[in-house]
Amino acid sequence: MITFDNSYARLPKAFFARTSPAQVPAPSLVRLNKGLANELALDAEWLASDDGVAMLAGNKLPDSAEALSMAYAGHQFGGFNPQLGDGRAILLGEIRDRNGIRRDFQLKGSGRTPFSRGGDGKATLGAILREYLLSEAMFALGVPTTRALAAVTTGETIYRETPMPGAVLARVAQSHVRVGTFQFFAARDDRASLIRLADYVIERHYPRANESSNPLLALLEFVVERQAELIARWMQIGFIHGVMNTDNMQIAGETIDYGPCAFVDDFHPKCVFSSIDRNGRYAWNQQPVMGKWNLTRLAEALLPILSTDEQTALNMAKHALDGFDLRFNENYIAGFKRKLGLMEASEGDDAFIASTTDALAKGEVDFTLFFRHLTRVAAGESEEALLSLFATPAKARTWLASWRKRIAGEPNVAADLRAAIMQGVNPIFIARNHRVEEAISHALRGDFQTFHELAGVLSNPYGEQAEFAEYERPPREEEKVRETFCNT
Ligand code: AMP
Ligand code: MG
Repeated sequence: MITFDNSYARLPKAFFARTSPAQVPAPSLVRLNKGLANELALDAEWLASDDGVAMLAGNKLPDSAEALSMAYAGHQFGGFNPQLGDGRAILLGEIRDRNGIRRDFQLKGSGRTPFSRGGDGKATLGAILREYLLSEAMFALGVPTTRALAAVTTGETIYRETPMPGAVLARVAQSHVRVGTFQFFAARDDRASLIRLADYVIERHYPRANESSNPLLALLEFVVERQAELIARWMQIGFIHGVMNTDNMQIAGETIDYGPCAFVDDFHPKCVFSSIDRNGRYAWNQQPVMGKWNLTRLAEALLPILSTDEQTALNMAKHALDGFDLRFNENYIAGFKRKLGLMEASEGDDAFIASTTDALAKGEVDFTLFFRHLTRVAAGESEEALLSLFATPAKARTWLASWRKRIAGEPNVAADLRAAIMQGVNPIFIARNHRVEEAISHALRGDFQTFHELAGVLSNPYGEQAEFAEYERPPREEEKVRETFCNT
């Protein structure tokens, strides 16, 4: 059994709509995340039982659940929609994890809510498995993210372009408050609710803001900082979120809403996969720009409560937003330096990183394999594998010579320490798109073996797994996935 304690349900009515999950005909457990269940002090055996699966599918809720859908607004690809909200997600309640931290327990894909607009509130099996794989891969990579506790099929057929099996994901998050949640109240000039929401978020996620003379400004500064760190982390593993709309930017700083996201194979800074991102708004190298754009929308929403004086509020917001570039650059450079095995500060660090990403783009190099093989070179292995990744080996030699020169400037760093640090940040296994698609297509035929195997491999991204070396391989030309779909 689960006992929920629901702080969000105690907020004013305008924050949410009470909702019940739809009953589904034949719930069946696809995968239960036992590690996460343990982290949450939940009984994995019970979760996998008939009663547990009935809850995970939304059929039978514990008495302590207070199911609701959260209200939010959002800028979607630049256009503001004042009324979005959880259209296919229902928050059952909150639980305390083993560290005493309050976590949201949400069902995604469990039917219509008052915010569903034209949608059916359901989710396809493909979308649920994709989110399960990607979010847990991100967790294993050490990137802040919402988690996947379980995936269940519902026994229902839902209708998209073609009939699809329906599924539900049990998602766990620090909370589901988004930039768009603040925008929801700002758009309604509801100052009281804005303050209430800000206070709630400070208490739950940023209690240190209360030590500041202006906790609301401190809140903005903290969110800016977390997002700058998060986006730098994404870029360092070649992750492209794909739908960085303000309703998909979480206030606590976790990666959220895995739709058409993907990891880049052959690197290009303008890389984009999402079928709905026609103009490359959320391309790999646009992510910090759009992240700051979103945070500017958050700052705008907070303006009326930052200060009673408009100009003062504006100055505060501007100053907080300026922190983004600083923080992002710091994290971006420090992270890439670790990936490259550079330990000491040097004048041209940012230029060297830029020359590296430039060489990768020009050489059509697989992003993950490049750092994987560079790590081996740092450990004293042959350069051949690294060189062979480049379309033109001459250019690869030029880059490698510049790297060797840079390394030679750090004579005090022991080679094995350098290699060990690189191993800790350069993943061997990422959720390659063609593998994710393969796992989904097998699952749609009723074979979940590939999905389970992939989930297992991705849970240990930095470790050698010789028996799964095939999962390191980039897609062959005919395996390449060029577009990813929301496929809600
Ligand atoms: P997304 O971009 O996927 O995060 O979704 C944007 C908005 O559309 C959110 O308000 C979702 O709740 C809503 N939405 C997405 N898919 C569905 C669906 N199948 N039924 C109802 N609402 C949906
Ligand atoms: Mg969303």
